[in-house]
Amino acid sequence: MTLFEKDGSPDLSRRVFLRGTGGGLMLGSGLGLIGSAFAQGGGGGPVRELPPSQPTGPPIPEMEREMPIEPGRRLGWAVVGLGKFALNQILPSFGESRSSKLVALVSGNRQKAEQVAPRYGVETHNLYDYQSFDRIADNPEVDVVYVILPNALHAEYTVRAFKAGKHVFCEKPMAVTVEECETMIRAGREAGRKLMVAYRAQFEPHNVEAIRRVREGEIGALHLVTSDHGRILDPKDPADQWRMVKSLAGGGSLYDIGIYSLQAARYLTGEEPVEVFGQIVNKKDDPRFREVEDRMAFQVRFPSGAIANLSSSYSTSSVKRIQAFGEKGSLILDAATEYESNKLTLRTEKGRQEVKMKEQSQFAAEMDHFSQSVIDNREPKTPGEEGLRDIRIMQAIYRSAQEGKPIALDATGSLR
Ligand code: NDP
Repeated sequence: MTLFEKDGSPDLSRRVFLRGTGGGLMLGSGLGLIGSAFAQGGGGGPVRELPPSQPTGPPIPEMEREMPIEPGRRLGWAVVGLGKFALNQILPSFGESRSSKLVALVSGNRQKAEQVAPRYGVETHNLYDYQSFDRIADNPEVDVVYVILPNALHAEYTVRAFKAGKHVFCEKPMAVTVEECETMIRAGREAGRKLMVAYRAQFEPHNVEAIRRVREGEIGALHLVTSDHGRILDPKDPADQWRMVKSLAGGGSLYDIGIYSLQAARYLTGEEPVEVFGQIVNKKDDPRFREVEDRMAFQVRFPSGAIANLSSSYSTSSVKRIQAFGEKGSLILDAATEYESNKLTLRTEKGRQEVKMKEQSQFAAEMDHFSQSVIDNREPKTPGEEGLRDIRIMQAIYRSAQEGKPIALDATGSLR
């Protein structure tokens, strides 16, 4: 029987201490916990520290992805608007996030919020509606507000979130007008808080790799980018109903998905447009396009001479493609901006190569990037100024389509 046993079984109640230096007692694996309890005990005579507790299983294996930081150090996020995108993509992505955790929900539909909240561990006292939203100022659990509302509501909720002292992560397009974007940026500055626009493609592994390869010259000087984003706008889908209303959507296919084509041209060239030319085509008598545009073809010219031939459509079957053509080769992202399973193909003098990238949630990546920017007090990769620039350029494209002529832009993306 060992010192720790009474009647043949381990005695966890007796306070036994090792006295002197030559106790000669080795604690075997599995007794670490008991050992440390003993080492803390009182009693007469000097107490000898027990050897460090032994692990009971293999150590942490080689990690294929970084572990999340401790919950207490992760930033707390409030999601505003429980729609199709929020519920299908964003809420589940918190599970893959390292430094962001979902703590609050804001919804006009209390029943929906109460149904969703327990699935994600959100407590009932952290549910808000649009009237009680400003009370989020008194909630220290919330660091970041993620605005996933119809486009025309982005500015209002961003400004209210800043007034509540929170940082803001806002869906694309940043807002409806240039003035709204400027107000949002100003409100963030005045509050001393950060603003980032959710450009997920800039965090999507295949797009990130395509940018890297273009920058490293694998396809030579980049001369032409083409990108097409299209889908069928479905009036039966509640998520598409506000998209048909100009006062809520701000624009049609260009604002909604043409923005991906424009972003691609900007992030692949790494340049800012000096001239744009746009054309709009709407099918006559289609009730979907009474207020917003259906199809847009637009060209963007860059200072280096690179040009981009881009399009967006609400009346063609799904396309989400980006192509870059250089002097020595080309690359194709098809699909380029799906939520997952995108594909990158490279064509150079060495032949055709499919570039395999490890799947990684672009949503978790962009949210974590923002949380980390807040934690480290760094400017995020796609701040308000990036969103503002796209709105300026898209406004110029609309104007070009109206006037039927190319529009020149200055270095800020404003009309010359
Ligand atoms: P939904 O219509 O599905 O969701 C919007 C939610 O906003 C609604 O469910 C509702 O939530 C709330 N809301 C508040 N006021 C209104 C109103 N007047 N009309 C309609 N909804 C209202 O749209 P999506 O989820 O598709 O889009 C939301 C935003 O996310 C848009 O800005 C869109 O551009 C962006 N988005 C981004 C994507 C990306 O890949 N980055 C993909 C898809 C969308 P509640 O009932 O909880 O109040």
